[in-house]
Amino acid sequence: MKITRYRLGTLAIPLKKPFKTALRSTSVVTTNIFELGTDEGLVGYGEAPPTAAITGDTDGSIVCTLATRIAPALLGREVADLQDSLSAVAQSAVGNHSAKAAADIALHDLWGKAYGQPLYRLWGGSPRTFETDYTISLNPLDEMARDAAEAVQEGYSALKIKVGVDFRLDMQRMAAVRSAVGSDVLLRVDANQGWTAKEAVRTIRRMEDEGLDVELVEQPVPAHDLEGLKLVTDSVSTLILADESLCSARDAQRLIALRAADLLNIKLMKSGGLAEALRICAAAEAAGMECMIGAMMESKISVSAAAHLALARRVITRFDLDPPILCAHDPVEGGVSYDGAVLSLNDAPGLGIKDIEGVEWSVSQGSCSLSS
Ligand code: MG
Repeated sequence: MKITRYRLGTLAIPLKKPFKTALRSTSVVTTNIFELGTDEGLVGYGEAPPTAAITGDTDGSIVCTLATRIAPALLGREVADLQDSLSAVAQSAVGNHSAKAAADIALHDLWGKAYGQPLYRLWGGSPRTFETDYTISLNPLDEMARDAAEAVQEGYSALKIKVGVDFRLDMQRMAAVRSAVGSDVLLRVDANQGWTAKEAVRTIRRMEDEGLDVELVEQPVPAHDLEGLKLVTDSVSTLILADESLCSARDAQRLIALRAADLLNIKLMKSGGLAEALRICAAAEAAGMECMIGAMMESKISVSAAAHLALARRVITRFDLDPPILCAHDPVEGGVSYDGAVLSLNDAPGLGIKDIEGVEWSVSQGSCSLSS
C-alpha cells in the first residue's frame, strides 16, 4: 500500500476561557492538519499547532515545510516502510519539529491502520486508563484561586498552576491556590522559564518551608540554562521537571548526564513526533528517570498520539493532556476519550480517529504554489 496524496488545512477551536502562561496568551486552538492518503483509500491524520514562543514554528513555516520539503519526500512510499519514511522526514530539513511531528503522527496513524491495530498495541502496550492534570492559567491571584477551586469541584484532583511572571507574587499565588483547594489536591507548578536560577531556589524553598506540598516544579529557568536548571535541582527537595529544555533524545541524554532535572516532559511538537519521543523514553528508562507526557494547545489528533505513547511506555508516569478539556467543543470524532480527567483509548486502528469537522483544506499536491 503506497502513499499517493496529501492535504493540508487549518482547524480553529475556541477555548472555554483564555489560556495564559509566562510565555503567551491565547483564546483559540489553531492548528495545521496534515492528511496522508493511500492507493487503497486509507487516511492518516497528523497536526501541528504554531507555538513560535516555544518551538520557533509558525503557521507559515509549518505549512511550507510540509508542502515543499516533507510531503514530496513521502509520496510513493510504502506505508509499511515506516522507518524509511521517518528517515525521509528527519532529513527533509533542519529543525521544524512541529511540521515533522505532523508528518510522523500521520505516518504512524497510517501504519497502525494498515495493520488493523491501535498504535499502543503495536508498541506492546495495554488498554489502561490514566488521569490528566488540569491547567490553571496565569491570572490575578484571586482569579487563580477561584479557578483552582472550581476545577476541584468539577472533579479534577491534580492541578498544574502556571506562574513565572514575578517570583514574589508566584509564592503568594501558590499559597492562595493551596488554601483554596485544601490539602488533598496534587499541585504542580509550571514557571515556563520565568525565573532565574536563584529566584527559583528562593521561591521553591519558601514553598517547601510554608508546607505548600508541591509535587513538582516545571521548567523554572530559561530553556538554554542547563547549569541553572541543575543548580535548582541540586538545591531543593521538590522534584524539578525539564520541559522547554528537552526537545530531542540528545537533549534527554545531556539532561541525564548532568543530572540537571529529576523528570522529563515529552511533547510531540518539541520532539518532532512519536519516533523521537520513543527514543526519549528509552533514554529515560536506561537512566531510571520518569517522564511526563504533555502537549501544546493542540486538538485531539496529536493528543491521541500522545495518549497511545502513554499507554505503551511505563516510564511515562505523569500525564498533562488537558487541552481537549479546555476547548469549547471537540471537532475530532474518535481517538482518545475523556471521562472528566480520565483518558482512555479504544481498539480502533492507528490513532482511532474517524473524522474531523470544520477543517479548511487549503493545500494539496498540484495546488501548491509555494517553493522551498
Ligand atoms: Mg511546561
